[in-house]
Amino acid sequence: MSSFDDACHLHPDPPTTPETAVSCERCGYPPGPHDDLYVVMVPDSGHAHATDPAQDGIRFAYACTPAHAHELIELGRCSWIDEQLWAEKVRRAAVLWPCGRLTVERFAQLAGLSPNQLSRALRWPAHHEPVNAHHIPGQRARSER
Ligand SMILES: [Zn+2]
Repeated sequence: MSSFDDACHLHPDPPTTPETAVSCERCGYPPGPHDDLYVVMVPDSGHAHATDPAQDGIRFAYACTPAHAHELIELGRCSWIDEQLWAEKVRRAAVLWPCGRLTVERFAQLAGLSPNQLSRALRWPAHHEPVNAHHIPGQRARSER
């Protein structure tokens, strides 16, 4: 009889807490099944939507409380960098229109940027992260030097 008990205890119940897909982005708190969860639209200059420019600079995040939702929004505002968003628009345009023969003006138009914004976007990542300049069509078309 004791062997039956031993066998039962050899195999404790498997974890019944499913891997929570979401947690508060501010504090990492994973909401329980009865906890409130706040879905918040956070400004994020590092986020360009895959296809819809109207959704650029915004992403969804989860927060455990209204206070943390507010903090996430404020963090997004404080860390906003125009050039970063423009660089993301450039990346998207380079993916959507990968052909190599475009003028700078045409490429800027496809990216939804002015030529000046395109220029600033192309210069910005050089100081922050590797730029995939060789993937940007038309960049060499109007080389200044
Ligand atoms: Zn939180």
